[in-house]
Amino acid sequence: MNSNFWFVVGSQDLYGEEVLKTVAQRAEEMAWEMSKRLPYPLIYKVTAMSNAQITEIVKEANYDDTCAGIITWCHTFSPSKMWINGLANLQKPYCHFATQYNKEIPNEKIDMDFMNLNQAAHGDREHGFIAARLRMPRKVIAGYWQSPDVLKRIGDWMKAAVGVAVSKSMKVMRFGDNMREVAVTEGDKVEVQTKLGWQVNTWAVGDLVKVMHEVTDAEIDALMEVYKANYDIATDNIEAIRYQAREEIAMKKMLDANGCKAFTNTFQDLYGMEQLPGLASQHLMAQGYGYGGEGDWKVSAMTAIMKAMGENGNGASAFMEDYTYHLVEGQEYSLGAHMLEVCPSLAAGKPRIETHHLGIGMNEKDPARLVFEGKKGDAIVVSLIDMGGRLRLICQDIHCVKPIMPMPNLPVARVMWQAEPSLTTGVECWITAGGAHHTVLSYDVSAEQMKDWARMMDIEFVHITKDTTVDALEKELFLNDLAWKLK
Ligand code: MN
Repeated sequence: MNSNFWFVVGSQDLYGEEVLKTVAQRAEEMAWEMSKRLPYPLIYKVTAMSNAQITEIVKEANYDDTCAGIITWCHTFSPSKMWINGLANLQKPYCHFATQYNKEIPNEKIDMDFMNLNQAAHGDREHGFIAARLRMPRKVIAGYWQSPDVLKRIGDWMKAAVGVAVSKSMKVMRFGDNMREVAVTEGDKVEVQTKLGWQVNTWAVGDLVKVMHEVTDAEIDALMEVYKANYDIATDNIEAIRYQAREEIAMKKMLDANGCKAFTNTFQDLYGMEQLPGLASQHLMAQGYGYGGEGDWKVSAMTAIMKAMGENGNGASAFMEDYTYHLVEGQEYSLGAHMLEVCPSLAAGKPRIETHHLGIGMNEKDPARLVFEGKKGDAIVVSLIDMGGRLRLICQDIHCVKPIMPMPNLPVARVMWQAEPSLTTGVECWITAGGAHHTVLSYDVSAEQMKDWARMMDIEFVHITKDTTVDALEKELFLNDLAWKLK
């Protein structure tokens, strides 16, 4: 997304022209320097000195599609009743950056002039009070503006805020309905559109088959070259791969024509198709589209949003499913996969294209799919569930490992991980919270970013960490139930 953030600096007109000029110059310099090291530009907008100025800049931010959020700071004191009218109308993500232009207190030079100019220590407290008083959803980040850790935190928040913008314009294309009888993939589409902005609608599989028949050999040839460049072809069944290319091209045409960034299908409804899209869905995910199996549109949209929140707007985040456990003492692991559709952004090496029989569903022919091992590293798994009347986002910290056995007869991509606080307590917590078997697994979106995103979207957030206990979680969920009934 072509996003930027606005730097709005609070002050008042009592300081005199010289001080205010210095504040404005410094704010501009800071925004310029910080932008060089942030994932999105930070644009200095105004040193705001009145209610009217603040109200005006908030209106502009609300209506500028490229503005993904505002970052405020008070170099000097800014009486915050001036902020009430503006903040009460703010519709963009909001970060309060409590920083200071100077890093050090200058021992010899400090005098009352210096004190009057460098007042963030009390200016930011006055500013923080009004946001607390207004119950504003916000992120507070404190620290020196050139510190790499601070810039990393601001950058991470920016990416979460971009996730908000992506969510508000999210369109999901459902090819057919959900898998029959499954509960967790259901949900209130009116509720998600109201809360998260998602437009979730259904297209007939027959519409897709029609577009598939219109795909030309030349289009398939071109996509085959892309497959060859990115993947090792480990099958003689080239026709199966070409069929997946046909499916991918047709799905991409329909997605793009309708502005959809996410899609679903189900193996139960493949009328007129020879193969469940495997490689086709995987390569679409590699390009940033969200996907959910068995009609799971919630996980599909979350995959697209979390990809967009990742590195360079298309990070290592993927639709995942908990499949089976290794319960040997001292070696407790979860094995995640899907019947075909795992995004190659998780791959440790070059994925192989293979064809195998798929017993489940209506496949007439053996579908081609990418097979690989997931990479090692810290990650999270995330599940959005509909609690009836509200949404709950559950996030668990995990550590992915190189799979401890080769599993040569497993014909799908696989990821192996250790969950926090342990496999069994982690499972108890996950099940207690109602987390789905489908998740988004991400190596580069953090739990803190998901918490920020949930706060900006105004939905419940539950985090299972190394310190979580079932007892504490049960109490948290009980209190959350009460709190969200009152909201
Ligand atoms: Mn599934």
